Amino acid sequence: MTAVPPLSALDTCAIVVAAGTGQRSGSAIPKQLCRLNGVPMLRWSVETLRRHPRVGRIVVVHTPSLLQAFQDALSGVEGVMFVEGGATRRASVHAGLKALNDAVCPHVLVHDAARPGITRDVIDRVLEALQGAAGAIPTLPMADTVMHAETADIVDRSALARVQTPQGFRLGELIGAHTAWPDIDEPTDDAQMLRAAGHRVVTVPGDERLHKVTLPEDFSLVQHWLGTEMMRVAVGSGYDVHRLVPGDGVWLCGVRIPHTAALSGHSDADVALHAVTDALFGAMADGDIGSHFPPSDAQWKGASSDRFLAHAVQRLRDRGGVIDHLDVTVICEAPKVGPHRDAMRDSLARIAGVPLDRISVKATTTERLGFTGRNEGIAAMASATVRLPVSEEMVN
Ligand code: MG
Repeated sequence: MTAVPPLSALDTCAIVVAAGTGQRSGSAIPKQLCRLNGVPMLRWSVETLRRHPRVGRIVVVHTPSLLQAFQDALSGVEGVMFVEGGATRRASVHAGLKALNDAVCPHVLVHDAARPGITRDVIDRVLEALQGAAGAIPTLPMADTVMHAETADIVDRSALARVQTPQGFRLGELIGAHTAWPDIDEPTDDAQMLRAAGHRVVTVPGDERLHKVTLPEDFSLVQHWLGTEMMRVAVGSGYDVHRLVPGDGVWLCGVRIPHTAALSGHSDADVALHAVTDALFGAMADGDIGSHFPPSDAQWKGASSDRFLAHAVQRLRDRGGVIDHLDVTVICEAPKVGPHRDAMRDSLARIAGVPLDRISVKATTTERLGFTGRNEGIAAMASATVRLPVSEEMVN
């Protein structure tokens, strides 16, 4: 795990350009807010930058009038400033630079939020190259044959390169280049502006995973890279028991089931939901249901247990995590769970906010052995399989 770097190491700030409307992506919301493996696209970049030991302040240039949505997408991420974007990419970067004017950092990274596959390695290469130049940009060679679209003439691809972000600059030089740029032209990127101001810009190797999400089909491609390389799987288990007392029904997975007894407990005693909730806390290594909802706290008396599970799910989401699967086994002689299984699955899926095919509800007896066999109580065990962004580990 990356240790918190000393303040003196924070010699770099970052501007994440996320002010576009993403009309080509086919999405109703700006693409940089669309979820990739459950995590807003913008958050992938910001968290990777946040984790880097040399990056201090991060400015997110957002789509005008959507500040709240951008803040929600980055909830829990510290050290982020939000600045409203302009009509062009240049105007948006300029707005970000203004916010950094007083920042004491010699270097700035300018990154497009539409490239969520940013890696520590590419940031290192860019910053390393800034030791000998005012600007450094990641590029990749052209693999395909390239021709002129109208004349069909083949273009010598060895002389061409694909330009990516993050691009790195000495902050003072970039501010100077933006200030000097004539308002009549729109540059393609900041490197062009720096060269126009007479500064040297060098290239470093880019990364295919920095692919820019532009078209609808780009989502699944980038999602695959992020899902396989930048998330880790975690499994948690949960177990709970509640005593049966005189009554006329029990709660299991948020479903009221008529019975000749009731479950006793501080809350509604939904033993199945408690096991699932504990499994989720286990997967997150985030304590247990007792530490989040102490029985000594009067506010949980008689509480509906779906609130416990919803809270655990929200904590997972706040960390950029996603539920892959929930499996719960109810252990009792009675009531019979079979007739209620579908309703219990539906209920669990709704509370956890995941599709039904990721939810399993099972039941077993203990052959009349033990406390469950004697109808003294009901037990439940559960497992939760989740994925968590590797990048979130830097927060700890
Ligand atoms: Mg319990």
